[in-house]
Amino acid sequence: MSKTNKKQKKASTKKEKKKNTFVPKANLTTIKKKKNYRNVDNIKKRNNASDRKTIPVNKLAINNNKSKIKKLEKTQKQPQVVNENNKQNKKVVKKISTPQRDQTKSLKRKSAIKKKYNNPLNNIQKPKKVEENKVKNETKKEPKTFLRLKEMFNTFEKSKLKPKKLDKELPLRERMMTLLKGSRFRYLNEVMYNNTSTQSKKFFKEDPDSFTAYHDGYKQQVTRWPLNPLDIIIDSIKKMPNDYVIADFGCGEATLAASIEQKTHSFDLISANDRVKACDMAHTPLLTSSVHVAVFCLSLMGSNLSDYILEANRVLKKDGILKIAEIESRFDNIDEFIKLLKIYGFSNTWKDLSQNLFYFLDFKKIKDITTNRKKLPEITLKSCLYKKR
Ligand code: SAH
Repeated sequence: MSKTNKKQKKASTKKEKKKNTFVPKANLTTIKKKKNYRNVDNIKKRNNASDRKTIPVNKLAINNNKSKIKKLEKTQKQPQVVNENNKQNKKVVKKISTPQRDQTKSLKRKSAIKKKYNNPLNNIQKPKKVEENKVKNETKKEPKTFLRLKEMFNTFEKSKLKPKKLDKELPLRERMMTLLKGSRFRYLNEVMYNNTSTQSKKFFKEDPDSFTAYHDGYKQQVTRWPLNPLDIIIDSIKKMPNDYVIADFGCGEATLAASIEQKTHSFDLISANDRVKACDMAHTPLLTSSVHVAVFCLSLMGSNLSDYILEANRVLKKDGILKIAEIESRFDNIDEFIKLLKIYGFSNTWKDLSQNLFYFLDFKKIKDITTNRKKLPEITLKSCLYKKR
């Protein structure tokens, strides 16, 4: 074997030995010990002395370190002892370094929490105490924001309860009333669509309560529409001169008169309030050529529509405006209707057919037709049948 091979073999056997030697699991004690032995070596090296004089010093160092290690081991065990909470251990706690004290503190806290939640009595008793304190200090100590939040929460809770009560107590009665109102409204509508205005007037005169029922139903119906056509008319008349005279044909509760500045004559079969003049709008008490604007908002009802348009032609001044808002489905052919109105002396000036459900039409009175009325074709519209809800 060559010299170099021998050397290599020696090195590898050394390595093998190292591998096989038992090295205890590293823990704080062994690390410290190792460190100290290394320190001893260092000291040896530094002093460059292999004589015996240095050895006792090193031994001393080792002994000193041993005692330190013991102390450390004690302190390592400390947290467990603290949990037991006896006086002896409290003394030991004093000796512990700051970070270790922190550790013991947190462990103390953890164990306290554990105790609290493991003890079922704690779970019951603690909230009681809090409740008592709350009652005592409610007005004194609670911050304003907390009180406000509490108030909000209470009102929210109450509001949550209300609908439940309503749902339980009122639905049947409410639903029945709505159904009754709805069917009565539909019935009265049909009465007005399929009879002459004279017949309808007679009908409502004999049973004025029906008229109130009709208007209740109508108001309910309006809430279901995407818009109230009367609002469109109100907006347009508001833009007109204040000295204009307006006639509202089939005014209902005379909302138009109440909403505009101009002098307004409101007519309906029955007078719902002081603003309404009860009359058949086929024959109003208005003077001929006395008004600037005649309005029919969803009121072209009855089998004698022609009479209403004739009356409008009579009372309107020359160039006076006729405004019509009607349910879209009532028209078979809007162009035919517009043509027909021309024969009645009205020229179409504006139309809005874009609104869902309703048609809006404006006409200008271009001629008086009251003289040859018998030769005129009849104006008809389909009845509006409101759906059952
Ligand atoms: N224009 C009102 C009310 C519409 S309801 C509004 O938009 O709020 C239709 C109204 O026309 C009903 O009040 C009905 O009584 C009225 N009406 C129908 N035919 C009538 C007639 N011949 N004379 C007077 N009013 C009539």
